[in-house]
Amino acid sequence: MDARTKIIATLGPACGNQADVSRLVDAGCDCARINLAHGTPDQHTALCGAVRRVERERGTPLAVLADLCGPKIRVGPIIGGSVLLADGQEIAIARDCTQGRADRIATTLAELVGAARIGDPVLLDDGRIRLRVEDRDQNELRCRVERGGILAAGKGVNLPQTPLELSALTEKDRRDLDWIADRAADEADGGIDYVALSFVRTSDDVKTLRAALDERGCAAQIIAKIEKPQAMDNIDAIVDAADAVMVARGDLGVEMDLPAVPIAQKRIARKCQAANTPCIIATQMLETMTSSPSPTRAEVSDVANAVLDHADAVMLSGETAVGTYPVRAVRVMNDIVEAAQAYHDETYRPLAGGASDSPAALAQAVEHVVACENIAAVAVYTISGRTARLFAKRRLPVPILALSPHRATLRRLALDYGVVPAEAAIVEHTREALALAERRAAEHGLAKPGQTLAVVTGRPITQSGTANTLVLHVIGEDAA
Ligand code: PEP
Repeated sequence: MDARTKIIATLGPACGNQADVSRLVDAGCDCARINLAHGTPDQHTALCGAVRRVERERGTPLAVLADLCGPKIRVGPIIGGSVLLADGQEIAIARDCTQGRADRIATTLAELVGAARIGDPVLLDDGRIRLRVEDRDQNELRCRVERGGILAAGKGVNLPQTPLELSALTEKDRRDLDWIADRAADEADGGIDYVALSFVRTSDDVKTLRAALDERGCAAQIIAKIEKPQAMDNIDAIVDAADAVMVARGDLGVEMDLPAVPIAQKRIARKCQAANTPCIIATQMLETMTSSPSPTRAEVSDVANAVLDHADAVMLSGETAVGTYPVRAVRVMNDIVEAAQAYHDETYRPLAGGASDSPAALAQAVEHVVACENIAAVAVYTISGRTARLFAKRRLPVPILALSPHRATLRRLALDYGVVPAEAAIVEHTREALALAERRAAEHGLAKPGQTLAVVTGRPITQSGTANTLVLHVIGEDAA
């Protein structure tokens, strides 16, 4: 296996049972996403269970990501389910309107009426329909339809220029966090590794979620979804506060001018690289494959460019959750990732600088060793996963075998670039560490007899944050 960018597949009606998940994993999926915006807690529990059974069946750690809805605003009920809005017509957004129609609708956030100002744009259905506020009173906003279309009940509402006082976690998010914490308590059958926070604006939002997880005794890591321009203004602090970051291009592309989105993606990926924070590129990567067996040239190029932008993971949403070709979409994504990877490896140069402590300095040293020696893989003993993550962010052209006694660490590392997580008992001496690394590397097909492994351990080996030893070990030679 080569080092590569990981693949996240969103589970849903098109791929929710154990056999489906097993096929997704065969095709290249490393992490399953459960989008809590859809389905019931019982359905989510069933999805988690399916992933954990596949994990047990294969003995391969898999990460599970639960994506919170966040304060997403939606269009309220509409008589007949949808309505046609014509260019140039007037429409009111009312505080209370139980039955929407062509000239009057409501949203799930009544306070929006008090917050929007004259001149603010209101975007409906992922920005397909565009209104502008022309007048307002206490009860309603009177808007002009600038770009019309058919509006269905429940579609998303975005107000990119309106300052809204929304809390980072809604009541539903807090109920979902209870469910997440219950899964962690039953980690053999459930176990959520990552919680994604939607509509992050500042690092305080991340801290609010961290406190809510702590209150529930849940150790899941936090992925900050960047989907608001305000998050771009605060990106450094958000990258520092979060465990990982997702470029959520769906809402970001509604809230920002579309041409600014690829640049935002590059900026975020670069910040994550500098901060050793995993970066996920998401949404519409292979959108055409939701209903077609093959992607467009532009989609193929998008996935390849995400790899070359140093994404740790690329994500499929509707393509796998509700698409006609879920397994094929993962396989196609995997093929694109591998092709881009070959180019990345061919043009690989060690990164300059960036070491702030001994594990980071060791990662830098290993990078140089890999560039000038013939190394088959790097084996890293890791307790919390931090050391393996530091190595992953160097984007070495060889796989990183992450050896840990902790299941939670191994599952999390399933998301990190180029990392092959493998269970390892606690060892006390370097000789045992080398022998175990050699065995696991062989089991995972990472190195053959006569090839060299770079093995990184700490002193003491079992303690987090102590990585300080590098041994170049030839497979088959006496570890003593
Ligand atoms: C996005 O907006 O790109 C995204 C990933 O979030 P969601 O799918 O929850 O809308």
